[in-house]
Amino acid sequence: MDRVGQSLKKNVDIMKSRVTKYAIYGVLIAILAIIVATLLSSFFQFGKLSLDNFLEAQKSNTTLWVLDAMPFIFAFWGQYVSSIMAYEAGSLVIDQTQELRSQTAALQYQAAHDATHDALTDLPNRVLLRDRLLQAINTAQRDNKKLAFLLLDLDHFKEINDTLGHYNGDRLLKHLALRLQNVMRASDTLARLGGDEFGILLPIIKESDDVQIVAGKIQKSLRSPFVLEGLKLEVQASMGIAIYPEHGKDVDTLMQRADVAMYVAKQDNQQVTVYSTELDKHTPQKLTLVGELRQAIENEELRLHYQPKIDLRSDSIKSVEALVRWQHPQHGFMPPDEFIPLAERTGLIKQLSTWVIKHAFGQAVAWHKKGMKLSVAINLSPSTLLDTDFPDAITGMLAMYNLPPHYITFEITEGSIIKDPERAMEILVRLSEMGIHLSIDDFGTGYSSLAYLKKLPVNELKIDKSFVMDMLENENDAVIVRSTIDLAHNLGLQVVAEGVENKETAAHLKSLGCDILQGYHFSKPLSSEDFDAWFGSQKIPEAKNRISRQSSHHQTVHQGLSYGHK
Ligand code: C2E
Ligand code: CA
Ligand code: CA
Repeated sequence: MDRVGQSLKKNVDIMKSRVTKYAIYGVLIAILAIIVATLLSSFFQFGKLSLDNFLEAQKSNTTLWVLDAMPFIFAFWGQYVSSIMAYEAGSLVIDQTQELRSQTAALQYQAAHDATHDALTDLPNRVLLRDRLLQAINTAQRDNKKLAFLLLDLDHFKEINDTLGHYNGDRLLKHLALRLQNVMRASDTLARLGGDEFGILLPIIKESDDVQIVAGKIQKSLRSPFVLEGLKLEVQASMGIAIYPEHGKDVDTLMQRADVAMYVAKQDNQQVTVYSTELDKHTPQKLTLVGELRQAIENEELRLHYQPKIDLRSDSIKSVEALVRWQHPQHGFMPPDEFIPLAERTGLIKQLSTWVIKHAFGQAVAWHKKGMKLSVAINLSPSTLLDTDFPDAITGMLAMYNLPPHYITFEITEGSIIKDPERAMEILVRLSEMGIHLSIDDFGTGYSSLAYLKKLPVNELKIDKSFVMDMLENENDAVIVRSTIDLAHNLGLQVVAEGVENKETAAHLKSLGCDILQGYHFSKPLSSEDFDAWFGSQKIPEAKNRISRQSSHHQTVHQGLSYGHK
């Protein structure tokens, strides 16, 4: 008997034994009824109760015969009904269990699907694509075959998004996904890698030219315009192609080289470019940089520099911003603006962020031990606000360093919230509930939406340096700075001006009520050793006095401050 059959039999036995109990009661009641009825009947018939009269009544009274049959009827009926009920109830339980099992299986399947697919288009995502690419490389290696990886990126998608809105941008991507799928074979993989970037794996190609044919089909499929909101949109894409084994023998190299080819295609307006070593000249650093950056993170070649934030309300330095530095062995100093977007595109950003956060936490703890109670502001990259595991990871790291959360500020840009506002909001709320401070960086350059700003659990706005640097010469910038300060204060937020390069700007910002200043006028970002020396050398008696009156442990920390006097 199978498991379902066995458990059904067990259920039926349990139910039957219960119902049988009630059937026995029924039989006993029926027998009692016969005895009472016979006694009554013999009493009325013979005027006296005796065993003889009782037996006589049983023999002569035909009505009692009918009554005598009752216990048998009860017993039979009870058994019959109990069997039927027990079977029905047992099967019901089994059906429901089976139903629950299949629902759980469906949910598990859905979760696995979500982890490997893009939510908008339902295409495979980067994770699944990398896995398929790895398998395809293994197969191609074994069979001595070629494969191709094609990277496609829409041209001017940002403009479409900005003018027609994200809703229509999303619709366009869905239409595009369908068209691309139609020109591909079932064995090919089309994946969405993020934004308007798609990856296509052709696991078997005979000649390198085959992939050109596919690229041609894709171009042709894009020739007829997309219709959105009654508008006809002409869309073009740039494609970069890398072929195994000629251009790379592992997943990372193939993807990087397709990326280089795509980059060149875009630069040269060529639409399709196949990778060649020649192209490295166009992008001399990009190609090898990703691999080198990975090594730099692993080999601890990155450094953090710290730039002080001057708190005008207490005349003290309470916080610093951590900024990552990479001294490349060949290319020299690499600005973060160059390698961070690259890390973001290649998925290295998570490792980089973890490195930065750990070192910033470690530095904060080291300062605290010396009596310098500084908070550290850390820049978060946009993808962090898509990672729902991030708050838990931070909880773990804070515990590991034994660092109170209010000593940490995360700086985020408005753009990083726009990508997936609901998820970003969930992550920000959790961070904020932990006691971490949040700051909107580069304020004024993104899609500033007051509606969002009011809902976000942020503590601080940072006016972008582009406005601050020119505010003395440019009236527009001055207006933006002034109204941002007012806006922040009206929302109950503190406001930081970054990019303060001279004392006139500092004085002006102070007169406008700005709370915190940061910029080259006070200090450039410094290594931790240089920062300690700079911090110790600050001499301004008034500031020192004011601070020492506030709290005694600040005495050693802010040994006089010369902000604004350089
Ligand atoms: P950001 O967050 O806006 O950082 C401020 C940038 O302005 C820093 O450039 C800083 O050196 C520079 N700066 C500070 N004061 C002045 C000034 O008075 N005048 C001028 N002209 N510039 C000033 P940096 O260090 O090159 O960083 C550039 C960007 O790279 C940062 O912009 C941030 O978006 C990103 N970044 C830096 N470190 C990290 C990091 O650890 N993680 C992430 N995700 N991004 C980082
Ligand atoms: Ca920042
Ligand atoms: Ca900034």
